[in-house]
Amino acid sequence: MSKMYAAVLEEYGRFNWKKVEQPKISGNEVLIRVAYAGICGSDQHIFKGEFHPRTTVPFIPGHEFAGVIVATGSKVTSFSTGDHVAVDPIIWCGKCPACLRKHYPACSSLKLLGVDVNGGFGEFINVPEHMLYKVDNSIPLQHAALVEVLSIGFHACRRANVQKDDTVVIWGAGKVGQSILQAVRTKTTNTVIMVDILDKRLELAKNHYTDIFTINARKENPVDKVKEITGGNGTDIAFEAVGHHTEIEGRVNPVRSCIQSIRGAGTVCVLGLGDEPLPLLLKELIWKEAKIVASRVSHGEFSETIENLEKGTLKPDALVTDVLTPDKIQHAFGILEAEPENHLKILLSYVG
Ligand SMILES: [Zn+2]
Ligand SMILES: [Zn+2]
Repeated sequence: MSKMYAAVLEEYGRFNWKKVEQPKISGNEVLIRVAYAGICGSDQHIFKGEFHPRTTVPFIPGHEFAGVIVATGSKVTSFSTGDHVAVDPIIWCGKCPACLRKHYPACSSLKLLGVDVNGGFGEFINVPEHMLYKVDNSIPLQHAALVEVLSIGFHACRRANVQKDDTVVIWGAGKVGQSILQAVRTKTTNTVIMVDILDKRLELAKNHYTDIFTINARKENPVDKVKEITGGNGTDIAFEAVGHHTEIEGRVNPVRSCIQSIRGAGTVCVLGLGDEPLPLLLKELIWKEAKIVASRVSHGEFSETIENLEKGTLKPDALVTDVLTPDKIQHAFGILEAEPENHLKILLSYVG
């Protein structure tokens, strides 16, 4: 039995880079040598035990990764050894009401590779052929590993139905908010505004997208400022990607802020997974006859994301603040917790 190294979460809060059994492949699977894997906000929840008992230990997380196929099962037809691939990590049941409508992210028993079953934080992983997307060899594997997180932005754009001339405000300049920004900028050239409370995150966005407006919600009233930028109208669309619902002093919570920021008949798209109920004043929504839509993971946007990477319309490096070898994984999770303003996407590099 061949062995490999993997970053194993041995107990909550403690990774160990150690030798484990290399996965075997069945007929419809390929074996991927992982090149790069990204650390997601969900991985931080898993690390801290906040997904317990959904995710138990010992466990190998990792749902954002890309690599090279090194072996194929006997029934694999569309992929060969040497192909560069990104992996769509969602596993749906195919039988529930949402799945029967092909609305897989809403599957009642949705599972993710790297959340519910071992993922890509090891040197090798076995993946069924239908979860694979070929990525042209001209795309660096470092960028291919970002396809999953970038596809979240494209899915959110589809859920919110972003159109060519739409004005957009994005609440939260973290990993998800910045992915939405990238996707939004492939759709509309009109006004885009980002709101956060960390100047460094806003600067990161602004450095790569110089034409956007940024608002620090601690320093300025963000709703007033959005109105001012949009000539009193409000934006067509607001995305909520803060990820928690804490109210900061003198401001309403992020979802209610989004409702207040859009024009009449506009759309709010929510992505942040808070654990607490949050107060809304529904007449603010009803008076505008506005819509709230939700967006979870992605489905069907991998091809669109890869096409945009190939066309050069995205700025994948803008998401990445650190590239570390996987034996430094404990350190990586430590700095993500300790200095969120300095670290956005950390990529683990398995290729030397
Ligand atoms: Zn993720
Ligand atoms: Zn289902």
